[in-house]
Amino acid sequence: MLLGLLFAAVTGAAPEHAPWPGGIAVIDVGPAEAPRPVVEFDERRVLVARNGDRWLAAVGIPLDAPTGEMSIRVNTARNIAFEVREHAYREQRLTVKNKKYVTPDEAQLERIGRERKIIDSALGNWRDVDVDGVALATPVDGRRSSSFGLRRFFNDQPRSPHKGMDIAASEGTAIVAPGTGVVTATGDYFFNGKTVIIDHGQGFVTMYCHLSTINVDEGQPVETGEPIGAVGATGRVTGPHLHFGTYLNGTAVDPALLLQTVTAAE
Ligand SMILES: [Zn+2]
Repeated sequence: MLLGLLFAAVTGAAPEHAPWPGGIAVIDVGPAEAPRPVVEFDERRVLVARNGDRWLAAVGIPLDAPTGEMSIRVNTARNIAFEVREHAYREQRLTVKNKKYVTPDEAQLERIGRERKIIDSALGNWRDVDVDGVALATPVDGRRSSSFGLRRFFNDQPRSPHKGMDIAASEGTAIVAPGTGVVTATGDYFFNGKTVIIDHGQGFVTMYCHLSTINVDEGQPVETGEPIGAVGATGRVTGPHLHFGTYLNGTAVDPALLLQTVTAAE
């Protein structure tokens, strides 16, 4: 039997409930003898995986969510409330030399808008398959150069918070799929550079940005550990690194909560 990897991790520890903005609420939604329930949060489907004899929902909580009570809806019939706690993220100020990335011109804004639609569509995709869980292997070894949720300022201009984990590694280092899935988008985007997006099922999606090369095609299934590209410095970057984004129900969540082997915060 497949134990819910969602929560199993290496030690087989209990589910990690991380109910804060950018975190994951892990909620028991009923006995596993029943069919997998349909769970919705903020009008989006939510991932549900088996853990022993229970169904557990893994709800991605938006970074801009208010603290306080929120709820999920189960089988369009009942609500289950949960409490969103406060969580402090750090602030970071960066100097970006290439002005085009700070104040893009009209043509660039048009391109950014076009690419945003493609990326958002891939990140919000729902593929209704059984999922073992949301635990991931590390896609590349290296130092985390900044963490999820950082409130960033580029040349003193406020930007949206950092919605991923940056892992520093030298140009050309192989990046591997951290879990089984299907490649749903590849491209060379204005901000993100060369990018791969993998759909792991039930709205669980991962993204890899700033690659030097891409080794997979859209529609291609990938297995854990399979090379998908190499670390680079394409797009808006200050040096070679992997930007690793993880998404649940269309919401960016902290990759550190999902990695089995990278647990120490910087
Ligand atoms: Zn990043």
